[in-house]
Amino acid sequence: MSVFDVEQLVLGMRVVQLPLRTRFRGVTEREIALFPGPFGWGEFGPFLEYAPAESSRWLASAIEAAHVGWPEPVRGSVQVNATVPAVAAGEVAGVLARYDGTRTAKVKVAEPGQRLSDDLDRVAAVREAMGPDARIRVDANGGWSVEQATDALGRLAAYGLEYAEQPCATVEELRDLRITLARNGIDVPVAADESIRKAEDPLRVARLEAADVIVVKVAPLGGVRRALDVVAETGLPAVVSSALDSSVGIRAGLALAAALPRLDHACGLATLGLFDGDVVTESLVPQGGSISLRSVEPDPELLDRWAAPDHRRAWWADRVRAAYALLPHFVHR
Ligand SMILES: [Mg+2]
Repeated sequence: MSVFDVEQLVLGMRVVQLPLRTRFRGVTEREIALFPGPFGWGEFGPFLEYAPAESSRWLASAIEAAHVGWPEPVRGSVQVNATVPAVAAGEVAGVLARYDGTRTAKVKVAEPGQRLSDDLDRVAAVREAMGPDARIRVDANGGWSVEQATDALGRLAAYGLEYAEQPCATVEELRDLRITLARNGIDVPVAADESIRKAEDPLRVARLEAADVIVVKVAPLGGVRRALDVVAETGLPAVVSSALDSSVGIRAGLALAAALPRLDHACGLATLGLFDGDVVTESLVPQGGSISLRSVEPDPELLDRWAAPDHRRAWWADRVRAAYALLPHFVHR
């Protein structure tokens, strides 16, 4: 029997429902399971509709955090980006004021129901508020066709873009867009985000030369070590981001960002502002634009305060057993 026998995991498991500031993916609470282990706590939070095969990679990540530990960091803190939702230009300064000291902003664009002029005004307002040295990236969440993206990025390039995140939906479109941008002399690197969910995805993105940068999340890839291997295999610069995690999950993202041999871009780990509650007393939030590495320990009182009802705990216990049965080959039992 291994140290992380599944019934042992279930026995120590805590399930919490953390309140969200605004509705996200149709819910106002984020339900996650947490496991204690000799190396700390692991977070298991696949979204509720995820099937066991997909969830098994998230479980591998939680087991790594609690029972295996992470590789040695090569940096002690990680720069993070501010996020500007698809707000009116007049609201930009107010949003950025919440991210004191942050020198990189991610700006949402291609919002359904809005026009390109809204995006141009918003990005202009961000450049105005942050100054010429700040880095600005845009995130279209796959909302543009290749033609629309070429037009939009051709205009947005005037504000100086670090990169455009998932400008189009598919890997093939991203590849075609990169060719088109180069042909038109539009100097905006392309980052793949939604195109990367499983370990085989980054390799395909790299093979098709569909992106200049990859956005990676620890849990969907199966843990920090696995993510490091995947990034190394692609040979592309990576940005680490979170998946609506508590401080425990953010800590795993930090472990990856801190262990990457090369980190050229601020990471998307400043997401705890989306929550109205956490499991630790001192949330892993940025100070002066970066998050420092430190251990996080859930507070027993907060685990009780946000505890899910018993029937949800039972549901998660079954979910853990189903995911465990399908654990990926790279987890040594
Ligand atoms: Mg994105």
